[in-house]
Amino acid sequence: MPPKTIQIIGSLNIDLITRTPRHPNPGETLTATSFTYGPGGKGANQAVACARLSRSKNNQQQQQQQQQQQQAAPPSTSSLSTPNIHIDMIGAVGNDFFGHHLLDELKANGVDTTRVQQTDGEKTGTAVVIVEEDSGENRILITPGANASVVSPPSLFLPSSSSSSSSSSMTSLPDLIILQLEIPLATVVNIIATARESCIDVLLNPAPAVGDLPRDVYKGLKHLIMNETEAGLLMGALGSETAEAEEEKGSPKNAQDICERFHALGVTNVIITLGAKGVYYSFRNEAEGWGEGGHVPAAEVETVVDTTAAGDAFVGAYAVAVVGHGAGVAEAVRWANRVGARTVEKEGAMGAIPWGDEVGGLPVGGG
Ligand code: ATP
Repeated sequence: MPPKTIQIIGSLNIDLITRTPRHPNPGETLTATSFTYGPGGKGANQAVACARLSRSKNNQQQQQQQQQQQQAAPPSTSSLSTPNIHIDMIGAVGNDFFGHHLLDELKANGVDTTRVQQTDGEKTGTAVVIVEEDSGENRILITPGANASVVSPPSLFLPSSSSSSSSSSMTSLPDLIILQLEIPLATVVNIIATARESCIDVLLNPAPAVGDLPRDVYKGLKHLIMNETEAGLLMGALGSETAEAEEEKGSPKNAQDICERFHALGVTNVIITLGAKGVYYSFRNEAEGWGEGGHVPAAEVETVVDTTAAGDAFVGAYAVAVVGHGAGVAEAVRWANRVGARTVEKEGAMGAIPWGDEVGGLPVGGG
């Protein structure tokens, strides 16, 4: 049986993280406590989450060793992901040190990067993060760089046989496309419209938060996964959020009301992540006239170390559960909720995302 394919179309960034006792004042120079850099970007994080959560850590390490021993030959599809799920990343990086580093990291995690463009004239996207240790407050500056050059001809996500510019090993349409908002909005809108015409399921994670989305976008979405801030902003743009509702944010009644608005616009499955309060989900089967929704409290966490990328890990886990395991929305949400909790127990973004066998609850690589 051919592998299922999850295609992530989105950003790839390098996070440059400086920790300091306090933020410098204008004109002031301070000595920082530490500096680290690492791969990130919502697209890349979610691709790695899909890859890690659909396999076990040991299997991936063995496959990597085998690849290194046969370096002359390009890696085959089966060596890049589990037999059941192929993880295909589409995006752009510069032909620079950061770009090479990102591609190496994604490949090491089992993501197919064949269709990540490496552009000579562009710099790889960066996120400069200054963490104030005393308050825990972050200041972040994103430079999109090559991410801004991701455009969307219809062939972007179609099989390689119909795309003259691609040498990807993909041979069929993806089972799911995952999008976020760190590449140009026009690209995202265009991809959703084209996917709808081609009957391809789309999962949109509308992050970072934006004020508004064209209404037509919603009817092309099978899954909408957002946090409370993102939900609030989108609802505000839809013109129904009252001050009273804002106060109740996160309460099940209000969450269901919000979900209903998105269902009415055409979204089948609406999921609102609530951080330490867990998650609210709602799905609708319009044709059969039934639906279900509910609140899932957060899974227990030993110590919350760093919440970065919890949302990205949640998205990846949900996608793997639905596409790879055929899970229903409620089951996928419960598993993703556990994955989100495991992610906040570790420091960092991509590196904190667990592997499938580190979470339990769903068979890794099962169908
Ligand atoms: P980020 O932007 O940092 O990736 P987010 O704001 O998109 O995160 P959150 O709602 O903060 O996403 O978290 C996603 C999910 O991770 C939550 O729905 C929950 O399942 C899990 N999670 C987050 N924080 C905690 C926590 N403190 N304890 C347990 N689970 C958590």
